[in-house]
Amino acid sequence: MDQDKVFRKKYGSFRRFFRMLWKAPLPILWILVYIGVSFALTHVGVSATEYSARLFAGDVDAVSVVIPFLLVTLLSLLIGSASGLVNGICRAFINRNLRRMVWRKAVRLPLFFYESNEPKQLISRVTTDTTVISQLTMQVFVPLITMGYSTFVLLRKVSSYDSALMWSLFAVIPLNVLISFILGRLHFGVSDRVNRATAELTAGIAERANQTLLIKTMGTEEKECKQGEVLMEQSFAAGKTSVLLNQLSGPVHAIAGALQVVVIILVGRGFYSAGRISLAEWIAYYGFATQLANTITGYLNDWTSFKSAQGATDRVAQVVDTPDENTREGVPVTTLSGGIRLEDVCFSYGEAPLFEHLDLEIPAGKITALVGPSGSGKSTVLNLIDRLYPLREGRITVGADDTARFTLASYRRALGYVTQECVMYAGTLRENLTQGIERSVTDEDLDRACEGAGILDFVRMQPEGYDLAVGEGGASLSGGQRQRFTVARALLRQPDYLLLDEATAAMDIEGKDLVWTSIRQRMAGKTVVFVAHDAQTVRNADYIIVLRDGKAEAAGDRDTMLASNPYCLEMMEQTGKEAG
Ligand code: ADP
Repeated sequence: MDQDKVFRKKYGSFRRFFRMLWKAPLPILWILVYIGVSFALTHVGVSATEYSARLFAGDVDAVSVVIPFLLVTLLSLLIGSASGLVNGICRAFINRNLRRMVWRKAVRLPLFFYESNEPKQLISRVTTDTTVISQLTMQVFVPLITMGYSTFVLLRKVSSYDSALMWSLFAVIPLNVLISFILGRLHFGVSDRVNRATAELTAGIAERANQTLLIKTMGTEEKECKQGEVLMEQSFAAGKTSVLLNQLSGPVHAIAGALQVVVIILVGRGFYSAGRISLAEWIAYYGFATQLANTITGYLNDWTSFKSAQGATDRVAQVVDTPDENTREGVPVTTLSGGIRLEDVCFSYGEAPLFEHLDLEIPAGKITALVGPSGSGKSTVLNLIDRLYPLREGRITVGADDTARFTLASYRRALGYVTQECVMYAGTLRENLTQGIERSVTDEDLDRACEGAGILDFVRMQPEGYDLAVGEGGASLSGGQRQRFTVARALLRQPDYLLLDEATAAMDIEGKDLVWTSIRQRMAGKTVVFVAHDAQTVRNADYIIVLRDGKAEAAGDRDTMLASNPYCLEMMEQTGKEAG
């Protein structure tokens, strides 16, 4: 989503905010404890102010003033730190619950979500954005109750001295509140700019850091340097304005505070000279009035921080509110058997349709090659069979079963899918190979799978064996090695249906032959569908389907297709030329 839209969206944030907290959910018991401790703190604070006022007024009686003053002050310190502790605990709970909620959702979101949103943003959604929300909850929303209560107690106390004195407070406090409000609005605007500049800078640097190989091979270091510097300059300019405003707001607050003190003292003095309140009450009044003003202005500052955190709320809500893939709805797959049929399938990634009423039949127990020009939708067919994207219309069946009736998780586990990207985790070889396999896997099983993928010798050469750490995304392996391990992973699963998307493209000729010989042996009698571009690989198929312009243009057994289909003939000629 456009960053500007996220940051500028102002409405609906409250609703989203509360809905998220409801779903997270809130640690209600701890929050109630916090509210209780805050209420106690208010009462102890009132007593402490009253005792100190009596001391200032000259009443230094040890038993009735000094000792209670010391005790109450001590108690107030203790309750104050207890309140800080409970607040921290509440925040930690809210943080954990929110992160858990976002993460659970994030792993279940459909691929579409990650294609239309920057996947890297997920990191900050799970970490910083959730922290901002938990802080807000404990700084802005829960304090509505605690601050409301302490305001009520302080006003009632002042009115017990003189009710007119209480009303005077409504004249005293607004000045500071107004100044805080104006500064808060300014802060909001500036921090919004800072946030946007930081987000752009982070995304820009992350993008470039991922593309160092491309930058080097294209020799575009200078251009990238300049583009990075532009982003840094924007962030610098926004930061400068923010520093200026911060420096300015300190003295403005101080002047407003000083004016407020003068007004409070003058009002109190008026009541005192008129004999309506005692000296101790005047001093206590001063204490309560400043306390009240500080509480309200402090609260207003936190309130403006809610506005600047709308972006965080919106970003997290976007994850939480996107419908996820329900991996558990439906019936679990027990056995899959029969051919795969795409019936009247309509599908598009974006606006432009890719398949309009596509019919295609993949025979059971055979090896089928999907061929066709680049962009004709071969990989998409595999993605649709694996149910990675929802169909707009039509259905996909395996045997007599509509695949849509199976739970996604069990259905996908029943298929082995080796995607083009050769996805590997930053873990050990063993962790990568056994990913998603529920039965126990012995080293012999691993050996057999790796042997089948022609990578066992490599494993044997490693002192760590299967405990070799492969680095982020399998970075310590070559492209060909990664491909062999992903094939080994698929073989280890022993699926009844195997989908391979250019799974041997990065291998040399002998490597391809070896892998295909093992696939033929180990998947004998099972259904294999693969996408390939070269005739050498396509020769491993029993059956060939040519896909073009979103339609299955031709299909038939290998020998007939290779001998007569124009696309296959062209492909063979092309491969022959490349080999020659
Ligand atoms: P093939 O495997 O035949 O080369 P694909 O199935 O990969 O073709 O892609 C078919 C069309 O769909 C192409 O035009 C491609 O650009 C588009 N496409 C593929 N994947 C995506 C995606 N994730 N988002 C948007 N468009 C896509």
